[in-house]
Amino acid sequence: MSRAPQRLCVIGAGMGGLAAAALLAAQGLEVLVLERGAMIGGKARFVPQAQGVTMRDVFAQLFDAARATLPALTHADPQGRHIWPDGGTLELHADAARNADAIGDFAGAAAARGYRAYAAQARHVFEVLAQPFIFAQRPSAMALMANPAVSLRLGRAALGTLWDGLAPHFPQPRLRQVFARAAAQIGCSPMLAPATLMMVHHIEGQGVWRVQGGFMALAEALAAAARAHGAVIRCGADVARITVQGGRARGVVLRDGETLSADAVLLNADAMGASLFGPEAARAVPRGAPSFSAITWRLRAPSALPAQTALLPEEATAEFTELHYRGRLPAAPSIQIARQDDTLHAMVNAPARAVPADAVAACGRQLQARLAALGVAAEADGAPTTPEDFAAAFPGTQGALYGAALHGWQSAFNRPPARSALPGLFVCGGGAHPGAGIAMAVQSGRLAAHAILEDRS
Ligand SMILES: Cc1cc2nc3c(=O)[nH]c(=O)nc-3n(C[C@H](O)[C@H](O)[C@H](O)COP(=O)(O)OP(=O)(O)OC[C@H]3O[C@@H](n4cnc5c(N)ncnc54)[C@H](O)[C@@H]3O)c2cc1C
Repeated sequence: MSRAPQRLCVIGAGMGGLAAAALLAAQGLEVLVLERGAMIGGKARFVPQAQGVTMRDVFAQLFDAARATLPALTHADPQGRHIWPDGGTLELHADAARNADAIGDFAGAAAARGYRAYAAQARHVFEVLAQPFIFAQRPSAMALMANPAVSLRLGRAALGTLWDGLAPHFPQPRLRQVFARAAAQIGCSPMLAPATLMMVHHIEGQGVWRVQGGFMALAEALAAAARAHGAVIRCGADVARITVQGGRARGVVLRDGETLSADAVLLNADAMGASLFGPEAARAVPRGAPSFSAITWRLRAPSALPAQTALLPEEATAEFTELHYRGRLPAAPSIQIARQDDTLHAMVNAPARAVPADAVAACGRQLQARLAALGVAAEADGAPTTPEDFAAAFPGTQGALYGAALHGWQSAFNRPPARSALPGLFVCGGGAHPGAGIAMAVQSGRLAAHAILEDRS
């Protein structure tokens, strides 16, 4: 007889929770998604439309399994322009051969050779780790490294930091700075993040895709698929606690006192804040040190900037020393800009704690000055969004946007796996295994759905 959980409560309508809801509703489970906000989408609501997703296959397989239509995706190329204060510019593409040419023009033939070697290593790391890590329920570090197919093929590259792993390929500081952004983009210092993050370059090389309607179109499409299979999504439903009976998660209690029973609970609210849902959840879901938060601005500025621009500082290490060790905004931050028609969305990494208003204002002036140097006159459209705003929107996170920081080679194994230590409680989202970002959050939702279905036996 089937012992599959029949009724599932999902806490949070972020990308991971919606992915799992769509998959499990399609499998006939009775799914109730409870979202404290007024609308679905979670952090995806803050992502500019011009931003792209990677790992197209993850989305294609998800929508296929949920018997739904994937929103239209268009290939984004070039992937981004990098600009330094002295006007130095490097544009990168999805295509490694074009990148080698661009890097050759930028820094010479030896740099182009260094890039080719780097792209080959990034591909190798991806090929070794994709199946046993990204697409697997989270393995332990010991188990993975005891697997000779992994440890021997990965070698020492797995144990160093990204910054050190880039050094042999890129003696040129600017190139090292460009490829170190793989860590900064998920809220980590490249000087502490594992070298295995170089696989991000290979993943991006497989294609970055803009979603028609932005990330929210993906969220809406997943919600529609879940509803089409009978799921109920309730916004304004703030979960206060996970109920536990007989050593198993049995449902939730809402802030207004309403009690809802379930056979299993899936936590998509940020795993960093699991302790908010009661002592059992706190014990069952590991919590690491927070990744970085961000400050974001929306600006009106007619400009010829490409869809993605990174305004980089002259020096990279000082930025991360200030962010990580001093817990303050860097004097010269990297600024990521996404352009959508005449609107610019700018973003800098920030510590996951309250940032003084004068520091936010000073950072805003830097942004304006960097744009002015490019001949772009930009006018702020509303107040910036700060770490305090993100902390208020996502309780328990201190404003960290990417779960626990990937600092140290073992950190990737410390993220909560889909199956928590409390029977009946599952976890998904950018704070869970395999990692942050839309594609990884969705992948974690798929892993959680599989784990929940496994309880069927
Ligand atoms: C400014 C910004 C830019 C980004 N840029 C990119 C990018 O370019 N590319 C990329 O891939 N990723 C980007 N990300 C990250 C990406 O958006 C996230 O990794 C992803 O959306 C996280 O999804 P999730 O499944 O973890 O759910 P979350 O987005 O964390 O959603 C969790 C949901 O749980 C709800 N919740 C919390 N507590 C409760 C409760 N008590 N009761 C009920 N519901 C609750 C929340 O309201 C929220 O809706 C960006 C994020 C931000 C903020």
